[in-house]
Amino acid sequence: MTTELEIGLYIFILAGFLGYHVISRVPPLLHTPLMSATNAISGISLIGSLVVAGADYGRFSTTLGFIAVTCSSTNVVGGFLITDRMLKMFKRSEERAVQRRRLPLILAAFAAVVVLLALLLVLTNVFGKPANAESGTRMLPITALRYFYILSAVLFILGLKGLSSPKYARRGMFLAEFGMLMAIVGTLFHPEIVNYKWISLGLVIGAIVGGTMGLRIPMTAVPQRTALSHSLGALAATLIGIAEYFRHAGLLDHVKMTTMGFEVVIGGLTFTGSLMAAGKLQGLLPGTPITYKGQNVSNIALLAAIVGMLIYMVLTPAASLVFYGMVVLALFFGFLLVVPIGAADMPVVIALLNSYGGLADASMGFVLMNKIQIITGSLDGTSGFLLSLLMCRAMNRSAANVLFGAFGKIDKEAAGPAAEAKGTVRSIAPDELAVLFDDTRSVIIVPGYGMAVAQAQHGVSQLANLLTKRGVNVKYAIHPVAGRMPGHMNVLLAEANVPYDQLYEMEQINPYFPEADIALVVGANDVTNPAAKHNRNSPLYGMPILEVERAKSIVVLKRSLRPGFAGVDNELYYNPKCMMLFGDAKDSLNQLFAALKS
Ligand code: NAP
Repeated sequence: MTTELEIGLYIFILAGFLGYHVISRVPPLLHTPLMSATNAISGISLIGSLVVAGADYGRFSTTLGFIAVTCSSTNVVGGFLITDRMLKMFKRSEERAVQRRRLPLILAAFAAVVVLLALLLVLTNVFGKPANAESGTRMLPITALRYFYILSAVLFILGLKGLSSPKYARRGMFLAEFGMLMAIVGTLFHPEIVNYKWISLGLVIGAIVGGTMGLRIPMTAVPQRTALSHSLGALAATLIGIAEYFRHAGLLDHVKMTTMGFEVVIGGLTFTGSLMAAGKLQGLLPGTPITYKGQNVSNIALLAAIVGMLIYMVLTPAASLVFYGMVVLALFFGFLLVVPIGAADMPVVIALLNSYGGLADASMGFVLMNKIQIITGSLDGTSGFLLSLLMCRAMNRSAANVLFGAFGKIDKEAAGPAAEAKGTVRSIAPDELAVLFDDTRSVIIVPGYGMAVAQAQHGVSQLANLLTKRGVNVKYAIHPVAGRMPGHMNVLLAEANVPYDQLYEMEQINPYFPEADIALVVGANDVTNPAAKHNRNSPLYGMPILEVERAKSIVVLKRSLRPGFAGVDNELYYNPKCMMLFGDAKDSLNQLFAALKS
């Protein structure tokens, strides 16, 4: 084992522990911004891509480097922009009243770039060596660059630490953005970079694509954007692995070959797996799990073949055909891995792929012996792993059940009596409901996936404002897995100007339900199903739920009695206290608002 590798492994492990410590303190409120923030930070693979695209390694490497620069810069720009868009929305009630001017922040960013460039110029002129004698251009020595990277790593960790409170989150992300800028600008002065043509083109395309995605994508499409950017990050890592293999073919030691093998295998399967996940979430591919006989056995056989090829490569690094065959199989494996998983389980898959993407990035760091990439890869890996575990725990399911359980494929026989809750259902019209609100003093709003589908968050916030003006106490109950992504409801409600101090987590809000005059359920289903508490046959059994049934009256806004994600009937709807306002949530809210106003 070489000393470099030992140091790299220490860094990887310690960064993982630090990541766990910092990320486990991020509240569920900020879990969606956390995903895009780690995604943006893992775009640090850009610095390795810049060197490959700009160095004189031959046309093949330059081409792959150029594509990798484009992919990574798309992630960096898009990831930071969308994170900032989300964080900007999280405000307390008093902050909503005072709209602070943001100009100083923009000026600070501009000043940071100027200071950075000035510092680099001074450093290159004082300590730099001429890159070539004729032009006399001076480049930043590697040692100076290393200090830049150390500082960037510190800023990334401080950035993630900022996410432990919505109050400091934006400031923290600003530090991380500055860290990224420093690493990128510093790398542009890397002594091996001799040509800036492809680098500039890649950066411009990446900035345009990432910028458009970051600024334009609606908040409801954040899950698929996250999946897409994982696939871009993984593609960058795979391409750099291939470029480096091509450049060193036959001259690689066992250690280098091992890390490179991990890089292309994990990168390859993450690339196709994430693309599939994005396609399923966007509705471009069928969302239902696709299963066939012997699926798990054939997948395991394929994985065994890939591992076998990897071991062979470590022993015989010059076997290039095996190397490229292994990459193709890894790409195919990623596709097969996601095929049997339903669209609704994609958030867990995305978080897992996030963690694989982190591992691919860290492997790239080992290949290029770039410590900052090892650190960010480890942070990204820890964050994805932690989030997927949290989601599984909140759904009361194991990771194995998510990955191999083909959840979402309706199996009526297996669901049996658990799925069938029967009784009388009472429906209510908007104007009747408006009358009910006349004597109401406190309302708890329970948003769910249907609110996201209907884009009804603005209607919810408008209604809540009206009720508040009438002296009604309004609270929001947020279940950890309501919607389809951790923190999904928080982001949507923040987008609709709901102050985050009105959002209550499940454990906080449950004791308030008995005091609530009305529990207003907007497009939520599974997270309110009382069967989770007592029906052992229910697939929801054991999942902690929002205790809506304890409120004095319950009003549910949804289109029909159709089940939600778990595919089972909700016995809440047959509760004598429950009234159903059927229809699209947005339309129902508009009608209710109009009725209340009149
Ligand atoms: P849900 O159980 O999936 O139910 C959503 C309900 O919304 C549906 O029953 C649907 O009923 C209704 N709906 C759909 N479109 C609507 C519209 N336009 N207007 C009004 N209603 C509409 O949602 P949930 O209660 O939020 O629970 C989330 C589920 O997702 C849980 O089972 C959770 O385990 C799972 N999950 C969550 C995550 C996460 O991270 N958040 C990750 C993985 C899985 P109609 O068709 O009758 O309208």
